[in-house]
Amino acid sequence: MYDNNNIFAKIIRKEIPCDLVYEDEQTLFFYDINPQAKIHILGIPKKNVENFNDFIEKCDPSEVFYFFDKAREIICNLDLNKTGFRLITNQGDDSNQEVPHFHIHILGGENLSGLR
Ligand code: 5GP
Repeated sequence: MYDNNNIFAKIIRKEIPCDLVYEDEQTLFFYDINPQAKIHILGIPKKNVENFNDFIEKCDPSEVFYFFDKAREIICNLDLNKTGFRLITNQGDDSNQEVPHFHIHILGGENLSGLR
């Protein structure tokens, strides 16, 4: 069951600040507090979904498209589509998912060969 007290739920409710990249009614993009690359942005839908599977199962296709298209826009605004980037989502124990609210990591701004 979705945990309303996870860190990203608190960020959505403005109980915890974040370094904002973009926000609208459906989505929030902000910088990771512990960046693994020169640019490390986290993207979340505002719906209460725990992971990738939940996001796809519980949201309309139009919401799923909206979220990933917004990610694409942000990637293009930062010119990462020209230099390259990595898009990651972690789900479950084997991935060491830390925060149980679906999120994507956008990593770039430098060569990522040092990262596994
Ligand atoms: P996960 O391992 O769940 O895919 O990634 C969670 C990410 O959230 C980690 O990269 C971690 O650094 C980031 N994170 C955890 N707490 C906070 C926070 O309070 N603010 C921000 N901006 N990022 C956080």
